[in-house]
Amino acid sequence: MKHYFKKNMILLFSTIILTGLIGFELILPCQTAAVVDGTTIENELDESQLNENIPDEGLDEGGLEGEELQEEEPIVIDENMKFAYLTFDDGPSPKVTPQILDILKEYNIKATFFVIGNLAEKHPDILLRIQEEGHLIGNHTYSHNYKEIYSHPQKLMADIEKTEEVFASILGTEYRRSRFVRFPGGSFGEKLRPFRQAVEEMGYTSIDWNVVNGDAEGMHVSPKKQLIRLQETLQDKKEAIILMHDSNTKQTTVDALPDLIEYILSQGYIFNTLEESRF
Ligand SMILES: [Zn+2]
Repeated sequence: MKHYFKKNMILLFSTIILTGLIGFELILPCQTAAVVDGTTIENELDESQLNENIPDEGLDEGGLEGEELQEEEPIVIDENMKFAYLTFDDGPSPKVTPQILDILKEYNIKATFFVIGNLAEKHPDILLRIQEEGHLIGNHTYSHNYKEIYSHPQKLMADIEKTEEVFASILGTEYRRSRFVRFPGGSFGEKLRPFRQAVEEMGYTSIDWNVVNGDAEGMHVSPKKQLIRLQETLQDKKEAIILMHDSNTKQTTVDALPDLIEYILSQGYIFNTLEESRF
């Protein structure tokens, strides 16, 4: 009897322990789930809802973003981006142009040089350097003689074409003909309309400016004055085409250039050549 009782007791304890263990293992997770039901399930639902939406979109976006970044980064233009196009007219000159090229190299900035044909003939080495250092060469006529070129649209065209021949003969096969022409004195005004039309019919783009450093407003305009003129005319323009000069008399333009560049950079501009512009 005693033995039977003992045996039963062992069985009972074993059952209790086993039940306890199973209960612990089986029930406890349920209880845990139940305890956090209120929040966990909701959270899980939220997550699953999010998971239904976010992973799909998220993956797509992630995938697209990755591709877009790789493929389109160089051409994506943020609406808020501002571009500055430094343009230097009336060179090349042996005294000033090389100094300007040195400064541009230091800042790793590419600019546009509107070159006069007859000066290119005199200083072919400087024209070559402009090209070799990645700047854009634009056409600023052969003679820069207002009387001559503005006597008739055909005269202007002949002057421009002659300059192109000079460029091609100096720069050789590396030369990629630029479509940009800058009229000496600018192409503004009704009187020059037939001249603008003639140039455009030949496939060129006549380009003026909307910002100045004022280096043509006197013989030796001081760097301080140039910075003021730049600040007055820049005015947060989205596409700033900045007129400057690299003829031999423009040493103060060289002296001012680093400060002008620093100011333009401080205003959040990206420098580029006109080739990269939307003009
Ligand atoms: Zn000029």
